[in-house]
Amino acid sequence: MRNLLDSQRCPKFQPSFTNKECDHYIYAENDKMEQMDGVCGLCNIKGAYRCVADVTRIIPLSHSSVGTFLTCHYLYYLQKILGIEVRPPFLSNALKAGKLWDCVKQKHLGIAINLQDVINEYEIDPYIVAKVRALYHAYKELEITVDEGYELQAKIDMTYDIVLSPSSFIPSININQEKINLWADRQDQDADERKWIFPMSITGFYDRKYESYFCEDKLSGSPSYYLDSFYIDSQCSTYFMADPKLEYCVMEVALFPQQKILEETKKRQAKESPEDLYKRILQDVLSRPSHYFQGYDREKHRYGKKFFRGEMNIQAAEERYRQIVLEILSCRYTGNFYRNFQSCGNVYGHPCDYQKICRNGNVADAMYRVREK
Ligand code: SF4
Ligand code: SF4
Repeated sequence: MRNLLDSQRCPKFQPSFTNKECDHYIYAENDKMEQMDGVCGLCNIKGAYRCVADVTRIIPLSHSSVGTFLTCHYLYYLQKILGIEVRPPFLSNALKAGKLWDCVKQKHLGIAINLQDVINEYEIDPYIVAKVRALYHAYKELEITVDEGYELQAKIDMTYDIVLSPSSFIPSININQEKINLWADRQDQDADERKWIFPMSITGFYDRKYESYFCEDKLSGSPSYYLDSFYIDSQCSTYFMADPKLEYCVMEVALFPQQKILEETKKRQAKESPEDLYKRILQDVLSRPSHYFQGYDREKHRYGKKFFRGEMNIQAAEERYRQIVLEILSCRYTGNFYRNFQSCGNVYGHPCDYQKICRNGNVADAMYRVREK
C-alpha cells in the first residue's frame, strides 16, 4: 500500500518502521484512549488536523459527514481532513437556535450544561434566546415529559468489513485479455487474486436512546421536513442499522417561530424588547401547542411522530455507505476533492459557510478555526 504514497502531499512525509507517516503523526484513538488501527491518524503540527499523507487508513463516516461529501467533495476536505470549522459566532441563526434548543433539552433531561456559556460562546442574539426561552417555558408549563429509561447522546459505533479485490477497488480497464489497473505500476499488472478487507466505520449519536426505540430532537422552521419519512430515511436508516433491536424512532420536532413572527419582530424591534417578544411567543405557544410541538398529545403530555424500522430503506443506506467509503478513498488517493459549485449558494438552505475560503483562497482566522485534535 505504501508505494501508493508519495511525499508530494506533505514534504515532511517520511514513513517510519513503526508505521507512522512521520514524527508528527499521532495514531487515532477512541474515547478510551486506545489506539485504533486502520483509522487515519492526526498531525500534531499547529494548524493541522488529519495527516494528509495518510491515504490508506480509513476516516470513519457519519450520517452528517456523508451528507457533507455528497454536497461538495471540497467541503468534506476542508471540514474532515483539514479540520476547518466556522467559529460559533459566525454560524447561521438557525444553527445557533438549534444548538441552544439542544442544550436546553439536554440540561432539562439531566446533563450539566451552562446555558449562558453557550449563549456567550455562540454570541446568540437576545431575540433568538427569547424565542428558545419561550418555547422551553411553554414546554414546562404544558408539563411535556419523556419516557424514563433513556440514555442521552448514546454513541453509534459500528464497523462493517468490506471485501474487495484490488481491481474492483481501483479503476481498471480490460485490454484484450489483460486487465489494466489504472493506478498501479505497469509491471504489477499480472492477475491479482488478492482480496482486500477493510473496515467501514460509522459513528454518530442518538439524541435519546431506549431499549427498543430512539428519539431525535429537532428545532426547525420547516418541521414538515423531519416528519416526512422520505427526507429522514438516510439518517434514521443509519441509526436502525447500528442496533437491530431498535423497532421505531420518534421524531420530536418543535417549530421555531417562523417568518411571520420574525417580520413582525423586526418592524417592532425599536419598541419590542426581547422580554416582550418572549412573553408574546410564550402566549402564542400556550394558546396553540400542537402548532409548535408537532404531534402534541394533551393527555399523554408528549409530542412527536413515530416511524417504524420497516418504513426505512436500510439496505439502500448500507449500499450507499459501501460506495461512498470507496469514493472518499478515491478522492484521498488522487487528492482530487473537486468543488461542487452548484452547492455554493445552498447548503441545507443557506449559502455555504466556507465560501470565503473558496473565494479568497485563504482561511481567515477571525472566522474559522481548526478542530481540537
Ligand atoms: S501531515 Fe503531518 S503527520 Fe502527516 S506527514 Fe505531514 S507532517 Fe507528518
Ligand atoms: S463554497 Fe462551494 S465549492 Fe466551496 S466548499 Fe462550499 S460548496 Fe464547496
